Amino acid sequence: MIINKDVVVIGAGASGLFAAAEAGMRGRRVVVLERSAALGNKVRVSGGGRCNFTNLNVTPDNYISQNPRFCISALTGFTPRDFIEIIERYGIRYYEKEQGQLFCKISSGEVVSMLRRRCEDAGVTIVYNAKVHDITKRGDVFVIVTNNTGVFHCSSLCLATGGISYPQLGATTFGYRIAAQFGLNVIPTRPALVPLVFNAKDSADFSGLAGISVDAVVSCDGRAFRGGVLFTQRGLSGPPVLQVSSYWRAGGYISINLFPDGDAWEFLLSRRRNKAELATILSGVFSKNFARRWCEINSYVRPINQFNDKELREIAGHLHDWKLWPAKTEGYKRAEAVIGGVDTGELSSKTMEAKKVNGLYFTGEVMDVTGQLGGYNLHWAWASGYACGRHM
Ligand SMILES: Cc1cc2nc3c(=O)[nH]c(=O)nc-3n(C[C@H](O)[C@H](O)[C@H](O)COP(=O)(O)OP(=O)(O)OC[C@H]3O[C@@H](n4cnc5c(N)ncnc54)[C@H](O)[C@@H]3O)c2cc1C
Repeated sequence: MIINKDVVVIGAGASGLFAAAEAGMRGRRVVVLERSAALGNKVRVSGGGRCNFTNLNVTPDNYISQNPRFCISALTGFTPRDFIEIIERYGIRYYEKEQGQLFCKISSGEVVSMLRRRCEDAGVTIVYNAKVHDITKRGDVFVIVTNNTGVFHCSSLCLATGGISYPQLGATTFGYRIAAQFGLNVIPTRPALVPLVFNAKDSADFSGLAGISVDAVVSCDGRAFRGGVLFTQRGLSGPPVLQVSSYWRAGGYISINLFPDGDAWEFLLSRRRNKAELATILSGVFSKNFARRWCEINSYVRPINQFNDKELREIAGHLHDWKLWPAKTEGYKRAEAVIGGVDTGELSSKTMEAKKVNGLYFTGEVMDVTGQLGGYNLHWAWASGYACGRHM
């Protein structure tokens, strides 16, 4: 059975559904092919079930890409306000958690329903459990062969298959494979926004601290993020650690400033005549268990009045710049995003169309554009989907 459409979108996630609705609203005949039995699986689990759907402070600087300027056009063309307008039109209530991060008040399922309803309103067909077997281009027509839902012909084909993080939610390398098949470069991928795993020594040193959180600034490769650093059974997590994981490379270190609000040297100096253990003094700043363990592993187990100036300066320096060398990340299974993907140098930043293959589009996380934590990835899904939906 051959089904003729103007547009075929592969992947019913955030970006594919958004792009499909935009194209449908322009009068294009659109079908979305989704390999799983449900749509928007990642949106559903996003933001802990409340979907951090955008950020009021979106700038190009919140994105990582080999070509940092690529995202500018799409972000200018579709702003957080534009998405908020849609959210409000569909009666979804939301709130700002912190730092411009907008979350649903009730559930991320509302955003999934909104995406589905927009598609319905725009006359878009969604085909579930579609097994795309083969894609070729004959002249100006793409031929998409599925194993179970027919053969589709279209003039515009959009790959919206997402990044390969959380494969348990349907992520595949399909988009990268099709890009490569059409001669487009794909930037090697690595997990992003992912917990870090201790090396063997740190694992032995900190195994008892799982569950403890310490307010700190964590930096890596010139980027610094503040928040609660969470000790886990295997390593470190929490917002600032997830953020720096996107900048961390195997073999590199992260630096933790345990004293982000003040000068540790002045703090220690003001207490240097105290007879209490250093760990007890630091217990006023961090949790007792962390303070004790941190002092033990650094051999700072003495009353503070027994340290000389040089030693106290060294401890202060260490509190501001505690370096750790993680062994690895927790990998794609626990990563909220992926660095790398279809090389943006191959695509038009205005339309997301491949420069050397007319009618072939990419949208969302399948591209080499990765947002920081805080609603930036979903905003990229909307902004790139909008750009591509207006043209394909
Ligand atoms: C646990 C978790 C929490 C997150 N929380 C947030 C958050 O709060 N805020 C935020 O901004 N970002 C968050 N993200 C990231 C965000 O969800 C993604 O960046 C976003 O969903 C990417 O949209 P996309 O449309 O490109 O891909 P996806 O939403 O992943 O959609 C891709 C779709 O393509 C389908 N597909 C794949 N291969 C095929 C194929 N061969 N044939 C047919 N269909 C295929 C998949 O089944 C999927 O439905 C989170 C991610 C995870 C994993």
